[in-house]
Amino acid sequence: MSKVGFIGIGVMGLPMARNLILGGHNVRVFDINPDALETMRQNGAELATSAKHAATAADFVITMLPNSEHVDAALFGPDGAAEMLGDHALIIDMSTVLPRMFDRMARRLEAKGKHIIDAPVGRTSKQAAEGTLLIMVGGEAEEVERARPLFECMGDTIIHCGPRGAGMRTKLVNNYLSIASNVLLAETLTFAECAGLDRELVIDVLMGTTAGQGHLGTTYPAKVLAGDLDPGFMIDLAHKDLGLALQMGVDAKMSLPMGAVAHEIYALAQNQGRGRQDWTSIYPAVREICGLDETLEN
Ligand code: NAD
Repeated sequence: MSKVGFIGIGVMGLPMARNLILGGHNVRVFDINPDALETMRQNGAELATSAKHAATAADFVITMLPNSEHVDAALFGPDGAAEMLGDHALIIDMSTVLPRMFDRMARRLEAKGKHIIDAPVGRTSKQAAEGTLLIMVGGEAEEVERARPLFECMGDTIIHCGPRGAGMRTKLVNNYLSIASNVLLAETLTFAECAGLDRELVIDVLMGTTAGQGHLGTTYPAKVLAGDLDPGFMIDLAHKDLGLALQMGVDAKMSLPMGAVAHEIYALAQNQGRGRQDWTSIYPAVREICGLDETLEN
């Protein structure tokens, strides 16, 4: 069993550290909040007086902190973990931070002969408590395998996303979709309310169509990702229907900003000559707008 220094005992870090202890690891925790430390003492953790103390003689140091400045402070600040880290120890940053900042910290550690991988998590504190997080790991295969027994205490889905930094980038791509689509859903339900509809009935309808089931699990694998742009539902019709919905929003005196932006993008796809292609052709259309080759092979 490994000696683990765990820094950041917050909403996520606390149950994650607890699951490492339940998995038989020797966990020494540090947080700037003394109440969090006290809770972890009651859960069988050894308490550290600093990040440096948490890292002393550790095989692994896990950081689960709000943002890059906190990780930077925990690693390189006064009494930071980097100072005391053995050359064979591995730092695992499980926080969600800006990839560029993570890369900078990684290079700084590398220059000192120290090792770090990124392993941000998907899902929420409920899954952190159950040990069923989804963990997105970036790093060398050997380092990822070394850390796997720890990941298996905290998560049930561990995906090696690529080299160092790929986990952090995958996490932000994932959150982009979940966080932006959250606004679109809120806008849609508010639109229904402004149109005088029964929300529960609308939800029943949404759950029975692509709207609620999501494109990624339905239309994309069947059409654009399979290289098939023959229209199931045409870009021209999607543009028309979204226009009708926006006009209905105007009639209901409702602002629909997400839909308005999407309508413009459908218009751009029409300008690219995609009007009679399947509506999932919006993906190659966006690729083209972003200067990527419109084919999906590359
Ligand atoms: P949190 O604010 O509850 O916990 C952060 C902890 O870090 C706090 O206990 C704080 O006292 C401590 N801390 C701050 N600076 C410190 C320092 N220099 N040294 C030691 N301890 C320090 O945050 P959280 O919800 O646990 O999230 C942690 C990370 O996980 C974030 O990057 C977040 O984006 C990510 N995340 C959160 C969730 C979620 O559902 N809450 C889900 C996935 C990922």
